[in-house]
Amino acid sequence: MTDKQTTAAWQDADHRSYLHPFTDYKQLQQASSRIITRADGIYLWDSDGNRLLDGMAGLWCVNVGYGRQELADAARDQMNELPYYNSFFQTAHPPAIELTELLAEISPSGMQRTFLTNSGSEANDTVIRMVRRYWDLMGQPERKVIISRERAYHGSTIGAASLCGMPDMHTQGGLPIPDIVHIEAPYHYANGNGRSREDFGRHAAQALQAKIEELGADRIAAFIGEPVQGAGGVIIPPDTYWPEVQRICKKFGILLVVDEVICGFGRLGHWFGTDYYGLEPDLMPIAKGLSSGYLPIAGVMVHERVADVLIERGGEFFHGFTYSGHPAACAVAAANIRILRDEQIVEQVADELGPYFRARWNELGSHPLVAEARSIGLMGALELINEDAEGVDEKRGAVGTACREACMSNGLVMRAVYDTMIVSPPLIITHSEIDELIEKASLSLDRIAQES
Ligand SMILES: *Cc1c(COP(=O)(O)O)cnc(C)c1O
Repeated sequence: MTDKQTTAAWQDADHRSYLHPFTDYKQLQQASSRIITRADGIYLWDSDGNRLLDGMAGLWCVNVGYGRQELADAARDQMNELPYYNSFFQTAHPPAIELTELLAEISPSGMQRTFLTNSGSEANDTVIRMVRRYWDLMGQPERKVIISRERAYHGSTIGAASLCGMPDMHTQGGLPIPDIVHIEAPYHYANGNGRSREDFGRHAAQALQAKIEELGADRIAAFIGEPVQGAGGVIIPPDTYWPEVQRICKKFGILLVVDEVICGFGRLGHWFGTDYYGLEPDLMPIAKGLSSGYLPIAGVMVHERVADVLIERGGEFFHGFTYSGHPAACAVAAANIRILRDEQIVEQVADELGPYFRARWNELGSHPLVAEARSIGLMGALELINEDAEGVDEKRGAVGTACREACMSNGLVMRAVYDTMIVSPPLIITHSEIDELIEKASLSLDRIAQES
């Protein structure tokens, strides 16, 4: 069979059998999936042999890039030694113990313990249960409310989707569950209303205090936020935002949950977004870059001041998963952390790649279609479209998809959140590969500018 015939066969079978995540099924029946068959470094290949630069590192997760033999070896060796065992009923195994030790070593001070899960969604459901368990043990069971933010993404299970600030998700299935509320996001471009970034950062943080006072501090269990909101559109908060949020959490004695699922493991040029912003979280959900996506694994890192309560006050925490701390996934995650550490990948993002990426990304800001270019570490966003661009009104809401398609046909995976383009490439991208990413993005912008 030719590549084209093979591709058509995959696409037919895909239409017949596979219900995809986050997909309009009717639309997909009329279109065809691109079938990805292999990957190396920062590149993907499809079943027709086309090469794509993966500007999204899969789904923000392939931090060390594709094709790392050490990770494949770690999985194979562990599967030969002990493919599965659980950590229920007072048992454990070396890979889970080693991984949690390693996490404690690299994490901000005091995040000594980790509860392991299989996905970021499960990690955030664990957050909900653990936070409420904590307040029960503290003798304040009425503290149940968790404050999240608009445009937040925390996962897709019922609990995690409730934490999300995505109205579309909440229209399906009667979400959010009770006692989860949302405040404004620190999204200066969309909500700044002429305020300076600094001023707006303080203003957005004040929304937390206002919500606490509205509901009564004695009902609030926790605040949850991503250091930089990822799926919401790479929303980089003003520098004034997080210090104020931290202060408010402390003032009212509510737990601070920092969702590190995207920002963790080097994305911002630090091990965690928490380090970048100097935060003191009580709980930290982690996933994605934890294993660079090679196997599914996630967790919640827990500060000593919370863990001590869970431990000393006793009683069983009725929560866990069959695959919590899966040996092969733990072995791969530990090997992945060692690669990040031993190859000083996090430092390179801070010192070399981040600054270079920012300089080049900012150049796209002068394209006539681009209203704002922003970046932090190795993630970036472009706001389309400039209010001065021709035919702005008809293009609103369509230009993002058009740009994403143009990028695809130019061999670049870039994602669109409405009309915001976002990238988050593997952390092992080189300077010349950054140049290639920028060139392809720029060509794609030119193409959609011409088409209009
Ligand atoms: C992806 C993501 C999640 C959910 O992780 P899954 O593994 O997809 O369940 C949670 N929080 C953030 C910030 C994420 O980006």
